[in-house]
Amino acid sequence: MEPIKDFYQRPLHDIRISVTDKCNFRCGYCMPAEIFGPDFAFMPKEQYLTFDEIEKLVTAMSEIGVEKVRLTGGEPLLRKDLHELIAKLSRIPGIKDIALTTNAMMLPKLAGKLKAAGLQRVNISMDAIKEDVFKKMNGRNVSTKPVIKGIDAAIEAGLEVKINMVVQKGVNDDQILPMARFFKERGVMLRFIEFMDVGSTNGWKMSSVVTKKEIITMLSEEFEVEPADPHYYGEVADRYIYKGTDTEVGVISSVSDSFCSTCTRARLSADGKMYTCLFATEGFDLKEAVQTKDHAGLTEAVASIWRVRKDRYSDERTEETAKNRPKIEMSYIGG
Ligand code: SAM
Ligand code: SF4
Ligand code: SF4
Repeated sequence: MEPIKDFYQRPLHDIRISVTDKCNFRCGYCMPAEIFGPDFAFMPKEQYLTFDEIEKLVTAMSEIGVEKVRLTGGEPLLRKDLHELIAKLSRIPGIKDIALTTNAMMLPKLAGKLKAAGLQRVNISMDAIKEDVFKKMNGRNVSTKPVIKGIDAAIEAGLEVKINMVVQKGVNDDQILPMARFFKERGVMLRFIEFMDVGSTNGWKMSSVVTKKEIITMLSEEFEVEPADPHYYGEVADRYIYKGTDTEVGVISSVSDSFCSTCTRARLSADGKMYTCLFATEGFDLKEAVQTKDHAGLTEAVASIWRVRKDRYSDERTEETAKNRPKIEMSYIGG
């Protein structure tokens, strides 16, 4: 089948798959500990798509244009034997890029195995370099040390590494420059992410967003940075290069300068619901389809969801939509 386009002529290029909704952290902007406490009802494991089912779905999606897969969650490395899924995905002919987003805690143990299975890239989330700020933000009092060990393990295994830092005003904006210094020195790409109103539990306010402009102004006070061209259509980060180096730094400006017009991403929850936007209210259940339909039927099921897609939430966001529109939590839909 030909690549298909949605209502606004955006192709489906990129699928983000949540393999579990559970996590070993409780970052306040994603899974606040007051809500995701010991009694929180996470998805029973029996509801997860199996690796064979995920492979079948990605094969169908690759038929209509998907080339990139990102595994996420919750914390994807909590899903047992994830390398087996990566091996299956890397054998799908149309899939050119397999990436993972993780908090890095389990990378010292798993990085080599994941790379050997076909993983190419990891995005590692780290929101501060100062111990007390990091400990507070991850909600589990975890030190930066195991995360740095995880980053080193990924580099050593030969994985391409990017660091993601979600910036919240008054929480970790004082970490922008220390983080930039730390990762520039190591030649590792750091990307600042504007705090988003995903889900309805993280107390988001427009005033807690540190904008791309503010971040670049702050960086420019200490470093000489030059804009770099996007690598491909739909790239989400604005990229810059520290002058005189080949180290990049980026900003993902989902709030202050949204990029819905080139959004080529869909998401799949661990229990098999496809979401055509991070801020969707409803998903399309594909579990039954994957269990009952043949390849052509499944491909058509996915194509028919994408063809009518009209999402452009970030272009339309206001304080009002942030507060009142029901949205799926990030840990469920997959970041
Ligand atoms: N547990 C893994 C991790 O933290 O990398 C993967 C899942 S996490 C939901 C994926 C990404 O979403 C992380 O980089 C995280 O920082 C980001 N994220 C979560 N909540 C966010 C929010 N409210 N605004 C912006 N980014 C957010
Ligand atoms: Fe867990 Fe990632 Fe969410 Fe933090 S951002 S609570 S590590 S899923
Ligand atoms: Fe894509 Fe929805 Fe984000 Fe816009 S708001 S960039 S459509 S996921």
